[in-house]
Amino acid sequence: MRNADLVTRGLKSVWHPCTQMKDHEGAVPLVPIKRGEGVWLEDFEGNRFIDAVSSWWVNLFGHANPRINAAIQKQIGELEHVILAGFTHEPVVNLSERLIEVTPPGLNKVFYADNGSSAIEAALKMSFHYWKNHGKPGKKNFVNLSNSYHGETLGALALGDVSLYKDTYQPLLMEVLTAPSPDAFNKEPGETDEAYALRQFEAMDKLLAEKHDEICAVVVEPLIQCAGGMRMHHPIYHTKLREACDRYGVHLIADEIAVGFGRTGTLFACEQSGITPDFMCLSKGLTAGYLPLSVVLTTDDVYNAFYDDYETLKAFLHSHSYTGNPIGCAVALATLDIFRDDNVIESNRGLSTCMAESVAHLADHPNVGDIRQHGMTLAVEMVKDKASKTPFPWQERRGIRVYQHALTRQALLRPLGNVVYFMPPYVITEEQIRHLAQVATEGIEIAVRD
Ligand SMILES: *Cc1c(COP(=O)(O)O)cnc(C)c1O
Repeated sequence: MRNADLVTRGLKSVWHPCTQMKDHEGAVPLVPIKRGEGVWLEDFEGNRFIDAVSSWWVNLFGHANPRINAAIQKQIGELEHVILAGFTHEPVVNLSERLIEVTPPGLNKVFYADNGSSAIEAALKMSFHYWKNHGKPGKKNFVNLSNSYHGETLGALALGDVSLYKDTYQPLLMEVLTAPSPDAFNKEPGETDEAYALRQFEAMDKLLAEKHDEICAVVVEPLIQCAGGMRMHHPIYHTKLREACDRYGVHLIADEIAVGFGRTGTLFACEQSGITPDFMCLSKGLTAGYLPLSVVLTTDDVYNAFYDDYETLKAFLHSHSYTGNPIGCAVALATLDIFRDDNVIESNRGLSTCMAESVAHLADHPNVGDIRQHGMTLAVEMVKDKASKTPFPWQERRGIRVYQHALTRQALLRPLGNVVYFMPPYVITEEQIRHLAQVATEGIEIAVRD
């Protein structure tokens, strides 16, 4: 098999996600992958690419990781799947116990779904239903932050605020209340990230003060708005938000689907704000990039609001066919084992520092408006004008030039608009990081040319 054979066949039958398929007939060819190993992806002709975006932020410990492969093989020999209503199994019990152990204190119950958007949908329904069971059916609105992203099923899409994904479907979506994001990109010159986050929090506080009677929950992506362009903010925002949610009787839903499992430098981003949300949604890194699985962790208080005699009809009657799939759970357990046994959070610190140092020279570049980082996520934002941070018009699609250049230099960099970022698997080496930085620098140089 040659690359071209698979591409030609694939374009006749596969409709790819998040893609204008016409692009693939022109300048942006589809890339066929035959195999993966560690940070490397390899095509049918032996070309290799460092997976700098962890295959859409899911891969943690490399492709074809022997320890995870072994966990799958072991589980398949015992039980591939069983209905989770009325039945239970060892991987799901073990995983629930382990997740309760490693997440912030007070999250004591684990509900299962099979992708990030579905976890968000479940958390929204649970929050609304909690208030209904408590005799407060008037609480039916949700608050989000500007530039947020929570997935693409209708409820999750309604909750997001990235117009590229949302505007087309607006007539189908529920209304939400939007508070301004603490995104430090927008701070005034000389203002600290912390001061800006506190200033932006005032609008959230005001919104909650005025409308808490109708609000079920505030939903946030702690520390990094990933799909919103890897925009970052100071953890103080969520410390304040937790206090306010308690004060006004509103739930806090932490969407850690992308940032969980070490991406921000701590196992969970909420740790940096010292808070426990009422709901925490996890997916992506939960299975280290292997299988679709997601969870909603919540508190005893939430769980108890649903716990009663059947006839009260207070139960949470929500399900997905593959809820708590045993193979997915076994992979998640192997993932947690690797975090523990290899002291991953500790050893990532050196890699984070290396990422920062390797792009430091770009700070002075006339078309780099911002370099930002939380732990293992680093972003470089290209701008047309540095002083005013004026963006390049989106129609120019300059990010794609970086992507195309990177493919010629053994790297998979897939910018979000004008934002070039690294969110690599944790098995990357310092030498590979320096190579990515070199490729990104070349790519940016090419992309900003007229
Ligand atoms: C990816 C993502 C989702 C949606 O997860 P899917 O598995 O793609 O449905 C939700 N929230 C955030 C923050 C994400 O990055």
